[in-house]
Amino acid sequence: MNDLAIRNGMIIDGTGRPGFVGDLALADGKIASVGGRAGSAHREIDASGLLMTPGWVDIHTHYDGQVAWDPYLSPSSWHGVTTLVMGNCGVGFAPVQPGKEAFLISMMDGVEDIPTETLTAGINFEWESFAEYLDALSGMRRVLDVGTHVPHCAVRAYVMGERGAENQPATPEDIVRMAAVVRDGLKAGALGISTSRTLVHRTRDKAFVPGTFAALDEVIGIGRALGEAGHGVFEIISDITGDDANLEWTARLSVETGRPISLAALISRRSGMKMREVLEFIERSNGQGAHMLAQVGARPAGSLMSLQSSVHPFSTHRSYRQLMAGLSHEERVARMRDPQVRAQILNDLPAVKDEQTLGMVAGFQHQFSLGDPPEYEPTADSSIRERAKRMHRTAQEVAYDTLLERDGREIIYMPLAYRTYSFDAILPQLTNPNTVLSLSDGGAHCGLICDASMPTYMLTHWVRDRSRGERLPLEFAVKRQTHDTAQLYGMLDRGTLAPGMKADINLIDFERLRLHPPEMVFDLPANGRRFVQRADGYKFTIVNGEVTFADGQPTGAMPGKVVRGPQMPPQA
Ligand SMILES: [Zn+2]
Repeated sequence: MNDLAIRNGMIIDGTGRPGFVGDLALADGKIASVGGRAGSAHREIDASGLLMTPGWVDIHTHYDGQVAWDPYLSPSSWHGVTTLVMGNCGVGFAPVQPGKEAFLISMMDGVEDIPTETLTAGINFEWESFAEYLDALSGMRRVLDVGTHVPHCAVRAYVMGERGAENQPATPEDIVRMAAVVRDGLKAGALGISTSRTLVHRTRDKAFVPGTFAALDEVIGIGRALGEAGHGVFEIISDITGDDANLEWTARLSVETGRPISLAALISRRSGMKMREVLEFIERSNGQGAHMLAQVGARPAGSLMSLQSSVHPFSTHRSYRQLMAGLSHEERVARMRDPQVRAQILNDLPAVKDEQTLGMVAGFQHQFSLGDPPEYEPTADSSIRERAKRMHRTAQEVAYDTLLERDGREIIYMPLAYRTYSFDAILPQLTNPNTVLSLSDGGAHCGLICDASMPTYMLTHWVRDRSRGERLPLEFAVKRQTHDTAQLYGMLDRGTLAPGMKADINLIDFERLRLHPPEMVFDLPANGRRFVQRADGYKFTIVNGEVTFADGQPTGAMPGKVVRGPQMPPQA
């Protein structure tokens, strides 16, 4: 007798083949049968009218801190994610020299905008080595499966101490020792290694993170550990400058080790390649035996500027800072509604010198009211600047009044890389076979970004709602965030609905699937704040055969495990 029979759903099995109506039977945490009519079971769920999909596998998150205190890993678990991979972009919390925990925290705060106070209060460092870290994670209860990379920044600081932290060149002995630490991590069950080669990533004290300028002998040295271990992904975030300007070494390393490279390319004016050229390079390299994938997101990273965010159009104004100092959110909103205060702030200008911040706080042609439901692909004529023109008002005025909407919780959305005011350029990236769906950054950028909802957005926007251009087939969108992401990380036991596979499943009311606007909450340790985002329409989420969420409410089941190393597919 099966444990659970889910009847009459539309089965979208993650392989990309057309959906079909039928039953799913689950037994012992695995899928027992797919399609047709399942035999009797201890429990039944009527899934008529619902989609049945594999649980989402989100490979680019930064829950390395949150995993220590939050068994729910929200908001990802609210969006149907049943397996997530963290330790991306070189940052993480193991290995760590006793007494050097604060450095890793400062790094995570600076790079991923997770408050130092929160991480200090929330993480009980009961580990030194990466293996001890995985053991500590295994001892905690949680709602979904987690896997992680060995983060190069932590390894470098661990092995080289101050020299490593200060980005001094590694000696041949350093490299041998770093490779050994990486090998031990992979042996203990890391799903790969990650490194940061971007000037964007700084510690809280604005120092470049360890390894930013690592020479090729160092990154290749640690990369070879993947070949020796015979498993794992090399996750690289890079500005595509310097040694990375032509990406040559990455393809060579992949061919040599036989291991996949997952590249987050941060394209800027300084980059040696444009995104199109990166994709062409990868296609060429893969034709010559490399296994490389460019990470792409379901939407560009977007800053969420609200009165509760780290940055908004008035956050640098001297008048704003003076008038709002020490006030609660409610008090600030009330004071901002005072006509005299309004006039005073609107007469003032941003007090910033650096171009980047100025472009952010005053780039009204790239700012939009996010609204409810949130609109992530807005038209050019809906920018704050264009709206202001039509109303014969200043852009500052419109921004000011926008921030006060919805009780002062409205969000001014500023997508990066949105010069064409459309996602038409993203579509070919999403369908390119040399890309992997990624970049949700779950758990990170608490004060300004919340893209952990990307898996839901793939369905709501790209499959169902997009009206300004082509959409994606449902089966394809599901495959991209289940089968494809799981396969890359060697998790061959999940990602599709087939007999013997892990019973990680979403039952979705597709018509009612809906994103709420992001909201700021203050629920992190030490009252830290973060943006979260809720969704309607996930009727059931199932992990290892146990229902973890029903109608959006947690059931209390905690079937999540730590994924250690490659996972075997079911025996045929
Ligand atoms: Zn990242």
